[in-house]
Amino acid sequence: MKVYEKAPAKINLLLDVLRKREDGYHDVEMVMTMVDLADRLEMEELPRDTIIISSQAGYIPLDEKNLAFQAAKLIKERYEVKQGVYIHLDKKIPVAAGLAGGSSDAAATLRGLNRLWKLGISDKELQVLGTELGSDVPFCVTGGTAIARGRGEELEMVHQPPQCWVVLAKPPINVSTADVYGRLKANQIVKHPSLKDMMRAIEGQSFQGVCESLGNVLEDVTLPLYPEVQQLKESMLRLGAEGVLMSGSGPTVFGLVSKESKIARIYNGLRGFCKEVYAVRLLG
Ligand code: ATP
Repeated sequence: MKVYEKAPAKINLLLDVLRKREDGYHDVEMVMTMVDLADRLEMEELPRDTIIISSQAGYIPLDEKNLAFQAAKLIKERYEVKQGVYIHLDKKIPVAAGLAGGSSDAAATLRGLNRLWKLGISDKELQVLGTELGSDVPFCVTGGTAIARGRGEELEMVHQPPQCWVVLAKPPINVSTADVYGRLKANQIVKHPSLKDMMRAIEGQSFQGVCESLGNVLEDVTLPLYPEVQQLKESMLRLGAEGVLMSGSGPTVFGLVSKESKIARIYNGLRGFCKEVYAVRLLG
């Protein structure tokens, strides 16, 4: 028996850091949503008690470091499943890009194995399991649009933002999320983005309002370290994107565009100097 799951990429429309906690993590306030750029997972039951991961992408770990492996191990142990599983990851989301590709694969594995082994676990319980795998995993279990607080695992589901196009561009550098948070001086953030403004724009379905309320305090760390990310933001704006932001800890930059007729110009303009460019839709 086989099951298939899609694991979409996430973007942060807003990412604020409120404080550094005693335990070393940061308290964040984020607005997360998903885009139609997704990995595809195929999961097939194995009679032996083993977990095997394969992928066409040569640059991700295929052993216990892979988040899909960790998710499978967790669900097997917690629900005492004796069978094994073979998981093939068809990677489409760029890796270490700030798009939560690994977290979304982990969430898709939890959903898929719940179905494959008919475990009857609720979404809420899957989210609790996901917390053990990473801060973004609980959100990726259900997707949609949510405000995330705490370490990112306390979720409040909200309306979908107005539908639009999203151009994603990843410069050829890899950024470590842990390194960016490590360098952030949470008590020296000069400008915090306004969650209130963003929520007003989403609830009023104001595309312009969403564009004006975009904000990510991690840009303060990543942009000075990697000037190419700043250049990419400027190019996207010049080519006609209406709102532009770095996603997560970067280096991917996304641009929001209301009219399909503008996409070709932005896409082709960026492809001139950036190999990884995608034009997708918000996931409704
Ligand atoms: P986030 O925004 O949640 O920090 P990211 O998009 O920056 O995530 P990922 O693509 O999730 O980063 O990859 C981060 C690291 O996790 C990579 O260095 C990669 O080796 C490792 N990794 C483990 N499992 C996976 C997976 N299934 N897909 C991609 N990367 C994985």
